[in-house]
Amino acid sequence: KLSKRLETVVSYIPKDSTIADIGSDHAYLPCYAIQRGIAASAIAGEVVKGPFESAVKQVKLNALENRVDVRLGDGLDVLRPGEVDCITIAGMGGPLIASILEKGKAKVENARLILQPNISAVSIREWLMDNGWSLLREEILEEDGKIYEVLVAEKGDPKAGYSSGNLEAEILMGPLLSTERSAPFRKKWTQEMTQWKVILKNMEQAEETPALEERRNDLLVKIKLVEEVLNR
Ligand code: SAM
Repeated sequence: KLSKRLETVVSYIPKDSTIADIGSDHAYLPCYAIQRGIAASAIAGEVVKGPFESAVKQVKLNALENRVDVRLGDGLDVLRPGEVDCITIAGMGGPLIASILEKGKAKVENARLILQPNISAVSIREWLMDNGWSLLREEILEEDGKIYEVLVAEKGDPKAGYSSGNLEAEILMGPLLSTERSAPFRKKWTQEMTQWKVILKNMEQAEETPALEERRNDLLVKIKLVEEVLNR
C-alpha cells in the first residue's frame, strides 16, 4: 500500500505513459504505478548509492526488472531528451526540486511534471512561471499530521490558472489552492502565520540591523498576504 501522499502523485500520471521518478528512494512510486496498470514503463532515478540500492532491491522483489529501470545519477541527468512523458519528483524541498528542473530543463520540454514539495512550493511556482509552464492542478492534503502539496504542470501559458488578483499571494499559496481554500490549506497557512509571529516576537529582543529590518518587513508583508486570502 502506498501513502496517501504518493497515491495523490500517482493519480495524475496519464495512463500508459512512460514515467521517470526522480529521487525515487525505494522506487515505491514507479513499482506501484506499473502494478496498477497506470504507467507502461518507468525509470527510477537516484543520486545516492544507498537509496539507489534499495530501489534496485524493491524492483527485483516485485519482479519488475523489465519495466522499471533504476538509474544512478543526479536529477534529470539520468534521462535522454524526450525519453519520458511524465516526471514525478516527490518528498524534497521546493528549492531542490526547482534546481533539479532548472539543471535539466532541456530534457523535460514535452513531459507532464508532477511535483510534491515538502516545503516551499513557492519556489516551484516561481520556476514554472519563469520557464513557461502552466499549472494544471494543485492539491493539498494532510497525512499523519503533515500537510503536503502536489503541483501538476505542462508546458503552456504560465499565467493560466492565475487570476488578475494578487500575483504575489497566488505564487506563495497557489492560485488554485487559494481559490478552493480547503481545510488542510487553512490549517497550513494558519500554522505558518503562527510561526512567523513567533519569529517577529523573538526579533524584538535582537539588535536592530538593516538585515533584521528587511527580514521583519518580509514577514509582515507575507502575514498580510496570507491573512487577506484566509479572510476573503
Ligand atoms: N520520492 C520518495 C518519496 O517521496 O517518498 C523519496 C523521497 S526522499 C525524502 C528524497 C530522495 O531524493 C532521497 O532518496 C535522495 O537521495 C534523493 N535525491 C536528492 N537529491 C537528488 C537529486 N539531485 N537527484 C536524484 N535524487 C535525489
